[in-house]
Amino acid sequence: MLFRDVYYLGEDFELRRGDIAVRGGVIEYAGERAPAGDWGETISHAERLVLPGFVNAHCHVPMTLLRGYGEGLPLDRWLAERVFPFEDRMTAEDVYWGSLVGIAEMLASGVTSFSDMYGFCGAICEAVKVSGIKANISRGLTSADGGALGESRGFYETEELFAEWDGACGGRIIAEASIHAEYTSHEGFVRELAAFAKARGAGIHIHLSETRKEHEECLARRGTTPTEYFEACGIFESRVTAAHCVHISDGDMNILARRGVCAAHCPTSNLKLGSGVAPVPRMLVSGVAVALGTDGASSNNNLNMAEEAHIASILHRGVNMDAALTPTAEILKMASLSGARAQGRSDTGAVKPGFKADLAVLKLDGRPHLGPLHDILGGAVFSAQAGDIEMTVADGEILYRNGEFLTFDIREALGGASAAAARIARELRGAQT
Ligand SMILES: [Zn+2]
Repeated sequence: MLFRDVYYLGEDFELRRGDIAVRGGVIEYAGERAPAGDWGETISHAERLVLPGFVNAHCHVPMTLLRGYGEGLPLDRWLAERVFPFEDRMTAEDVYWGSLVGIAEMLASGVTSFSDMYGFCGAICEAVKVSGIKANISRGLTSADGGALGESRGFYETEELFAEWDGACGGRIIAEASIHAEYTSHEGFVRELAAFAKARGAGIHIHLSETRKEHEECLARRGTTPTEYFEACGIFESRVTAAHCVHISDGDMNILARRGVCAAHCPTSNLKLGSGVAPVPRMLVSGVAVALGTDGASSNNNLNMAEEAHIASILHRGVNMDAALTPTAEILKMASLSGARAQGRSDTGAVKPGFKADLAVLKLDGRPHLGPLHDILGGAVFSAQAGDIEMTVADGEILYRNGEFLTFDIREALGGASAAAARIARELRGAQT
């Protein structure tokens, strides 16, 4: 595949104009003029911007089934009263259809990889396999009953996930370990999980200091912040993605920076659930890696990374009254390269020779909100909509083009997900009466 004479985001995250040539799923050339040769399909258009594919660093993809379910509640009540009873009634088939709809939504906003924490991981992996997208998949573990790791059903499923899916589909799927959060597990369990991940060289996905309540209750209960607690348990001795990091202290930031933990910033979810605003500019100054995530569709309520990048870009300027914060290049890097690094994918996340051809192509012409445009990258962050993504490519394969999903039947997926959501809602209504 050859992109000829297009705008693109260079490996330095500056705007460039020229050619991008792809062979065998890898970017072979990115520069002014690709060497002559048979590159296959040539896409030549002056009004296209080629970006590295977005990496959604924190998601619960099957939660498309709960979109709009239990609106208006704070996080703790929303989980206990609405989400958990709904999830108790989900089957693997429900999760498959919900995942496929979520993946479709992500592909349509330029996402080429995502990091997920949920149950029924085999069904999620099947949807990832079918769709052609990439994903780091983890089973979110809790241990409210105080049992050992080895006695946990969730840990059995984690081991199953590693055995069946780690490295599957040519490396598109990576299995990870997960602790849901500080407040849903006891210390021995967390220490055992940390040792399991370290021994396997696996990544870990956690929620960290999402709400003030969570952070302050941990301080009261343990005398440490959730970050200090996870540090003491050995969690940060592995590669870690920590979702939210809204209420972390300066000391926490030093730990996260020293350990190379990536904070997955989920601004829409934090705003919608009234959790607060993560101190992203301070994290960046402290040397903490920050990526972007949507969280689940039930707390967002979509999986639209173009929108997430827009909100992340303006939120911190407003809160800190400083228009120089979170420049567009920084935001685009958070939405791509930083997420890929958090996933342990060192050859992904930039338009760079030798990197995987994971690309999102933005259509700049024929759009009233994109013309005239004085600043192309500013347009990509501040003006563009997910609907402007014309093409999404992973490992050099076109997965989404001009509104069409090329690897699966979107109507079948939507039908399956709608039927599942309606059945569960009906069962819950029946249980209440
Ligand atoms: Zn989450």
